Amino acid sequence: MHIAGNTAWLTPLQRELIDTAARLGREKFAPRAAEHDRDASFPFDNYADLREAGFLKICVPREYGGLGADFATYVMVAAEIGRHCGATALSYNMHVSSCLWSGMIADALEMTAEQRADHEKNRRIHYANIVERGQVYSQPFSEGGAAAAGKAPFGTLARPVEGGYRISGKKIFASLAGAADFYGVLCTLDHPAATQRDSLYLAVPADAEGVEVVGDWDPLGMRGTVSRTLLLHEVFVPHSARLMPEGLYFQAAARFPHMFATLSPTYMGIAQAAYDFTVAYLRAEVPGMPPVKRRMYPTKQIAVAEMRVRLEQTRALFLQNARDATVDPDKDTRMRLYAAHYTIMENANDIARLAIRTCGGQSMLKSLPLERLYRDSRCGSLMLPWTAELCLDRLGRECLYEAGERDEEI
Ligand SMILES: Cc1cc2nc3c(=O)[nH]c(=O)nc-3n(C[C@H](O)[C@H](O)[C@H](O)COP(=O)(O)OP(=O)(O)OC[C@H]3O[C@@H](n4cnc5c(N)ncnc54)[C@H](O)[C@@H]3O)c2cc1C
Repeated sequence: MHIAGNTAWLTPLQRELIDTAARLGREKFAPRAAEHDRDASFPFDNYADLREAGFLKICVPREYGGLGADFATYVMVAAEIGRHCGATALSYNMHVSSCLWSGMIADALEMTAEQRADHEKNRRIHYANIVERGQVYSQPFSEGGAAAAGKAPFGTLARPVEGGYRISGKKIFASLAGAADFYGVLCTLDHPAATQRDSLYLAVPADAEGVEVVGDWDPLGMRGTVSRTLLLHEVFVPHSARLMPEGLYFQAAARFPHMFATLSPTYMGIAQAAYDFTVAYLRAEVPGMPPVKRRMYPTKQIAVAEMRVRLEQTRALFLQNARDATVDPDKDTRMRLYAAHYTIMENANDIARLAIRTCGGQSMLKSLPLERLYRDSRCGSLMLPWTAELCLDRLGRECLYEAGERDEEI
């Protein structure tokens, strides 16, 4: 089954990239997934394949030598990768988001002519790192406080100094820690009255003085993301480290909310993989298993039907979301975005749960991928800024209140 469902509407570029992702996934990523999961090791081998296939530059604009994939193209490719190795797809998203945010999203935002010129100059440097040197960018913004949920300024501070900034702070769950060449750090421009409007997005070289990766990494799922803690002690970066001009991240978060929705395609892929596994298992087509068919029992057929219904509901919202991404979406589009993100994250886990119940005890042995899919699928709803809880919070509030509306005291 194709990740996009009906393929008739796909562009030639979309077909080509999704097909390549499917081939890499089947032949390379899936066979390596169990080992990276067991050892919680970073999939450098998968990144070498992504690099060779040109996938590190997928969302670098064409004029900078990239493939110029748009939002919809990227999320379908990411879902296809997630179908074979969730951890690779999730950390790859951190890299690609750096290109999307500084690329097509920044292009849609308002900037002064001076900011635009400065941004062009800076991003040319970063895109060259990716296109010419195959370097990898990550995106640590979580800090364990209220900032990553969008409720407070980032605690990591960038102090303006001669020629650039000095950054100090701590980032938790920094996927690609120890693996990325640059950490795309969200921080606050340090001044006494700083607010969220002063957020800054700076590329910190992994080998800069004062950068330290600490702590262990032994989580439930998504183990190959190696999301350890990043400490920044007075790290100097030049002005060209800006992946967006000062103040632009705040504008992007407010005006291009789909920027955060790139976390869910991985989980669309996991949902598809759990369904694929179940069908193969019940048809006795899983390699290495005794050829005992289970598909003839009505309970199994009903369970697969339920899974398929949930999968198609998830895919429908996933694809709608992919096509909806735009600057200044109207209110209904924004509400659908929260609903889609919530649905993909929660349904992935629900489909994996049903898969284990339906296939039974033998299916959850570590020798098969299903138990990994189940563990990985649980992580989606925890991703800030849009955890499942926060999607519901936003959806409920914003469905009932227009901007600026308040209730009278009673
Ligand atoms: C596998 C994995 C990879 C990750 N990779 C990255 C990465 O590369 N970069 C990165 O920046 N982060 C990453 N994260 C971190 C992720 O985005 C979250 O920041 C992290 O899971 C937050 O965990 P927490 O327990 O500190 O959340 P807390 O802030 O303690 O929140 C716990 C829960 O409370 C709810 N909550 C939080 N704030 C509010 C609020 N204001 N109002 C109501 N409810 C609220 C949310 O539902 C949240 O799930 C990753 C996480 C995982 C699991």
